[in-house]
Amino acid sequence: MLELEAHAKINLGLDVIRKREDGYHLVKMIMQSIRLHDVISLEKNHSGEIRLTLEGSALPADERNLAYKAAALMKKAYSIPDGISIHLKKQIPEAAGMAGGSTDAATVLIGMDRLFGLGLSKDVLLSHGLELGADVPFCILGGTCLSEGIGEILTPLPAMPSCYIVLVKPSQGVSTKEVYQALDKVPSPVHPPIDAQLEDLKNGDLTSLCAHMGNILESVTLPLLPALNGRKSHLEALGADGMLMSGSGPTIFGIFVQKDPAVHACQALKEVYPEDFIMVTEPCQPSNLVLQ
Ligand code: ATP
Repeated sequence: MLELEAHAKINLGLDVIRKREDGYHLVKMIMQSIRLHDVISLEKNHSGEIRLTLEGSALPADERNLAYKAAALMKKAYSIPDGISIHLKKQIPEAAGMAGGSTDAATVLIGMDRLFGLGLSKDVLLSHGLELGADVPFCILGGTCLSEGIGEILTPLPAMPSCYIVLVKPSQGVSTKEVYQALDKVPSPVHPPIDAQLEDLKNGDLTSLCAHMGNILESVTLPLLPALNGRKSHLEALGADGMLMSGSGPTIFGIFVQKDPAVHACQALKEVYPEDFIMVTEPCQPSNLVLQ
């Protein structure tokens, strides 16, 4: 049996450069893996079938689930006759802007490559990832990356300086597709300074990195869910060095240089927003840690 961690991500910067004729948006994003993860166990079975079980989630455990889709893709692409039993323990909030589904798909691709001894190259795994979704290739690489194109052009970056990240996810959801569509109607959205963030990462300057954080999709999601502004102001009042919405939302995160203020902010926010998912996490490096 193989047990793997499927890590969530946040966006330290998210810009949309333009829309392609086929409707896809060309992005320029700084992606960062975080310690928060789902746990995926994989085991061969002799039935020939994909058997998915879920814990901590009401998501469908069938071909609609991205973990299932990834397993089906691998079985078909490499004519694998064996079955595979997948147990997915969900810990990443769903539809939160933290790539919960994409990281499950990425981890099943990596896990099946190992379990069945396929010996696939990183590039082959990345191209299978892209078949499953724009954020899946990054979830395969992990760490700190610049993501361009529709998410398939990835450049590994110097690791984000160590820090503490307070995640705040209200219960309301947003549809990623609708947020991107609505962006096309925003007259002059503010483009975040992604190039300045690249310099900050090169210099290991966390303060400047925080000052340059920006997400063009906030111009759509914040008016849709004005309650998010309250979370951002609270994080600022509690001493966060930077606050931003991740992906298309609704997760808001705050960056703290020191641990104690982050832990204190987490406790204080839990009292103000008892319905929200709130935790302290940290950036993490690219490795799908094999636990067993
Ligand atoms: P992104 O940051 O990549 O936009 P997200 O964090 O907003 O992603 P996900 O948690 O990946 O959103 O879920 C998006 C949709 O994918 C959900 O509405 C859910 O129905 C579907 N989905 C399918 N499989 C999974 C899975 N294993 N985990 C989470 N969501 C899944």
